Amino acid sequence: MDSLTPEQVFETLMQGNQRFSEGSCLHPNTSKERLAEVSKIQRPMAAVLGCADSRVPVEFLFDTGLGDLFVVRSAGNTPTVSSVASLEYAVQFLDVGLIIVLGHDQCGAVSAALDFDLVLTPSLEELIGGIRLNLSRHNPFPPLHSACRHNVVISSQRIVQRSVLLTDKVRAGKLVVKPLFYDISTGIIETLTDKD
Ligand SMILES: [Zn+2]
Repeated sequence: MDSLTPEQVFETLMQGNQRFSEGSCLHPNTSKERLAEVSKIQRPMAAVLGCADSRVPVEFLFDTGLGDLFVVRSAGNTPTVSSVASLEYAVQFLDVGLIIVLGHDQCGAVSAALDFDLVLTPSLEELIGGIRLNLSRHNPFPPLHSACRHNVVISSQRIVQRSVLLTDKVRAGKLVVKPLFYDISTGIIETLTDKD
């Protein structure tokens, strides 16, 4: 996999998602041989910042196996310090050239960000505050579906803005960051743009 370009990796993952959404997964790289292979070294083809939602199991959605993806998950796919640090590790030490930020519809964390009557713990306040910051270009906040999509796009921009390493890699053409959106009812993943 290490000879693939970020675009080729992206195509591989989207083909995997097509198999997943059609119910025809191949479950690659799940054998005992693969287990033995990756016990020596990991060379993931991409890193993913996804949501912690139980309906968004990243490896399943792309029909991938052991050692294929370096996955970071936090509620609302938020660019927390630990999320950004984990992604930096993947880029600096595992030579990952593609980061995917994967959001989804009906996200509970984004829904919480839209509800100012909720009583939150200090930790949740910090996390939800990050999502509100992502949505702050909109006044008033958009409805949930639009907010979920917008949150992904802004998160994908903020992980780069928050990291000198990631900024340098993107500018040097050695890192691609893509915002993607998962439909929890169809299983289909689509690419988002700056307009979302
Ligand atoms: Zn979510």
